[in-house]
Amino acid sequence: MQTYDGLLAAVTAHEGQTQEVRDPATGAVIGHAPVHSVEAVDRAIETAAAAAASWAAISDADRAALLHRAADAVEAHADALVELLSREQGKPLNGPNARFEVGACAVWLRAAADTPHPNHEIINDESGRATMHYRPIGVVAAITPWNWPLMIAIWQIAPSLRMGNTVVQKPSEYTPLSGLALVRILNTVLPEGVLQSVSGGGDLGARLTSSPKVGKIMFTGSTATGKKIIEASAEHVTRLTLELGGNDAGIVLPDVDAKAIAPDLFWGAFINTGQTCAALKRLYVHDSVYDEVVAELVAFARTVPMGVGLEEQNELGPLQNKMQYDIVDRLVQSAIDSGATIECGGNPEREAPGFFYPTTIVSNIDPHNPLVVEEQFGPALPVVRFSDLDEALVLANELEVGLGASVWSSDREKALDVAARMESGTVWINGHGGLHPMIPFGGAKQSGYGKEFGAEGLKAVAVAQVVSG
Ligand code: NDP
Repeated sequence: MQTYDGLLAAVTAHEGQTQEVRDPATGAVIGHAPVHSVEAVDRAIETAAAAAASWAAISDADRAALLHRAADAVEAHADALVELLSREQGKPLNGPNARFEVGACAVWLRAAADTPHPNHEIINDESGRATMHYRPIGVVAAITPWNWPLMIAIWQIAPSLRMGNTVVQKPSEYTPLSGLALVRILNTVLPEGVLQSVSGGGDLGARLTSSPKVGKIMFTGSTATGKKIIEASAEHVTRLTLELGGNDAGIVLPDVDAKAIAPDLFWGAFINTGQTCAALKRLYVHDSVYDEVVAELVAFARTVPMGVGLEEQNELGPLQNKMQYDIVDRLVQSAIDSGATIECGGNPEREAPGFFYPTTIVSNIDPHNPLVVEEQFGPALPVVRFSDLDEALVLANELEVGLGASVWSSDREKALDVAARMESGTVWINGHGGLHPMIPFGGAKQSGYGKEFGAEGLKAVAVAQVVSG
């Protein structure tokens, strides 16, 4: 088991081009990450391509066993990894944050190992015989964002390895050390060359996505970068799984118990301090329960402490970076300027260290205010009043994105009817954002395409080959 200092030292760059990494809660420098060159990306791709044949040749059972050992390695180094993640990303240790994220890495590694292989017989009767085989693609490029730097990396790496591919991973330049540390830990059990990481800016991602030797790109991040990747993929017809941004809507029907649903509504929106692709980002509440739901949400919000991640009591942290802080600040300001009601928050201490934006709940807001229709990706939830369900559905569906959505009701049949009318990759009932390693996850509309997790996730990192006859 490695200490925090040992893990940090192992991923810190001492020569060549480096990048300063700061704690978003305090502004303190926590280390220096390497900034690799595009030539280093090319070398990593070459190494991954050279390792692909031998990795693909070992048995599926052996690859699955190695993923289990990788999960053990993550657990053995969990304390150091949690501390590095908390310092670099800013997320607190407790709540659905750093300890949760590192734990989820082990869970998803094991699930990728244990999911039954998707090979299957298609037909075998007097009309013919055909089987479907899912073959390795070759080299997978795994490009990750800064909000869940470990968990999202595992979502991309684990199924890719299980299906016999080798991987080159690029963490976000906002959270390079966590990504490098994770790969280093996984590599304590994986054969050489099977998994590598390159750290640096978007130019490295662009190099990966335009390489003829990369067969598949797994990308989670902004829709804008996703569109660039689609363009880059055209030249070599590179396969894509794109998990892009969202602006998830939740619809609260009149029959809810406001107090009972308030904690789940809150965490649906404020998980990871709102920096989650499939968080609840705009809430539509029926007029008959509107005041009560807002009051219960605000009452619950006041019980959840925000502060420096390494202080055990906190469950909300800072924004990870100034860019995101400025987006949240601008959008809340647009709500204030419009005359909406700031129920809590909305008044950041601008002189304080760190990118802390207070937990903000906004009511009586116009449904087309920028805080509602643009993705805030931070701790600010607009709550819109509705009296006509059809109109609420029009508002919920009118944006170009559709990652997740939710319906809140004590009448399951009614909730199912509403769910069928929502345009998103997932609809949760009486919850928002809960993920399960066996339940496929992915977006509709401009939130991307391709599903992750479970058998669908394994198929997405393989070439489907029919053997007929
Ligand atoms: P980006 O989409 O810019 O970054 C995601 C990853 O893509 C990073 O590793 C980034 O590298 C890399 N990248 C950047 N340019 C390219 C390129 N041309 N080709 C390939 N890869 C590239 O997201 P940001 O971090 O800039 O965040 C911007 C917005 O995206 C946020 O405000 C938020 O709305 C949304 N977002 C959504 C997330 C989600 O989970 N769906 C997660 C994070 C952000 P580098 O960091 O080095 O530039």
